[in-house]
Amino acid sequence: MLDCIFCKIVKKQIPSKNIYEDDELLAFHDIHPIAPVHFMIIPKIHVDSLGYCTVVHQALLGKMLLLAAKLAKEQGLENGFRTMINTGHGGGQEVFHLHVHVFGGDALLPRT
Ligand code: 5GP
Ligand code: ZN
Repeated sequence: MLDCIFCKIVKKQIPSKNIYEDDELLAFHDIHPIAPVHFMIIPKIHVDSLGYCTVVHQALLGKMLLLAAKLAKEQGLENGFRTMINTGHGGGQEVFHLHVHVFGGDALLPRT
């Protein structure tokens, strides 16, 4: 996707503070964090959202969630963390490239 911000981050056309990368996934800090630790995990392939995932993406989605737990711990969120996947306009999604938010830290998180 030519004008997708996250595809540009994957291609290193836009800088990002990466914390993990392999052949399928990339994790980097959110540019506007809502908690002391806030990063996101994206697939390197472009998928608009969770709403466009099929069984083809099953293993990739599982890998993203397992990585979320691993990286949260590495980022110091030993006491727990929150994951969020905004999906579609109704779900508050702003960047239409599938991503899992992972955040937490000292601040109290609202129960939404
Ligand atoms: P969404 O609402 O789509 O789930 O969240 C998109 C997230 O991407 C937002 O939290 C926003 O701060 C983050 N974001 C948007 N553009 C950039 C960018 O260029 N770099 C980084 N690191 N994060 C971005
Ligand atoms: Zn993309």
